[in-house]
Amino acid sequence: MVFSGLAERLQETFKKLKGKGRLTEEDVDQALKEVRRALIGADVNFLVVKDFIAKVKERAIGSDVLQSLTPAQQVIKIVHDELAELMGGSNSKIELAPAPPTVIMMVGLHGAGKTTTTAKLANLLRRQGRRPMLVAADIYRPAAIKQLQVLGGQLNMPVFSMGDSVAPPDIARAAVDKAKRDGNDLIIIDTAGRLHIDEELMAELRRVVDAVHPNEILLVVDSMTGQDAVNVAKTFNEMLSLTGVVLTKLDGDTRGGAALSVKAVTGCPIKFIGMGEKLDALEQFHPERMADRILG
Ligand code: GDP
Repeated sequence: MVFSGLAERLQETFKKLKGKGRLTEEDVDQALKEVRRALIGADVNFLVVKDFIAKVKERAIGSDVLQSLTPAQQVIKIVHDELAELMGGSNSKIELAPAPPTVIMMVGLHGAGKTTTTAKLANLLRRQGRRPMLVAADIYRPAAIKQLQVLGGQLNMPVFSMGDSVAPPDIARAAVDKAKRDGNDLIIIDTAGRLHIDEELMAELRRVVDAVHPNEILLVVDSMTGQDAVNVAKTFNEMLSLTGVVLTKLDGDTRGGAALSVKAVTGCPIKFIGMGEKLDALEQFHPERMADRILG
């Protein structure tokens, strides 16, 4: 389960704290040391951890917490609130275009789950009443077009493709026109990925952005790659101004370091999480609920 390691360690720490009754400043310090180690163990970015602990400490020690009747509960609540805040505070919804179609552009490196997530997201948004069309604009990996068509077929959803010899910005423009004609109020564009970030990839993605001005540019990253995922998010955000991140494979990520660091490091909210390979295994990301899960 996601965060299982962190959850176990924090719950252990707080069990000890709750057993103490009244708390001294040293008790809180000791507990926060353990929280710090647990976060580092979960592969959370070092600076993020430092900042997090400082915030919790200020709130836990500088107030009436220690004099209260339930000091441990209050310290736990502070950690809970700060964890939720760290992951973005409130939920981040998809930005819809005032005049349809809403354009969502998916970007990411190979293997992150971009094509699968494109289909999953369309599925999720259709359940929320949208009429999505998928757009195959990854013309460099021939299998990508086919893969999107297969996924679209499984979902019984239109897939727009112009083969692999039209430039992606032109495909994107034509897709917007087609969506308008067909009454699709939302399109999701699957773009090319690479093994590594390179200038050529970014330049092409920027040309797609300039062609259709997406309402959302969502980066798909594999949460299991931990701080690498965070670094990828940082670079993509600097070069493309992302509107959000989709963390995939969270179902297999027992550490959770990327989920806890992405927002703080990049400023970009996590909007969705992939929780499995099936096409319904995508969820909106709820920081509060995630914090509940971690603290049990
Ligand atoms: P792309 O190269 O980024 O387009 O990646 P794909 O969409 O082809 O996905 C790569 C692999 O990751 C596939 O086997 C997907 O089924 C798998 N995958 C994608 N998202 C998830 C997820 O949330 N959980 C799990 N367990 N697997 C996922």
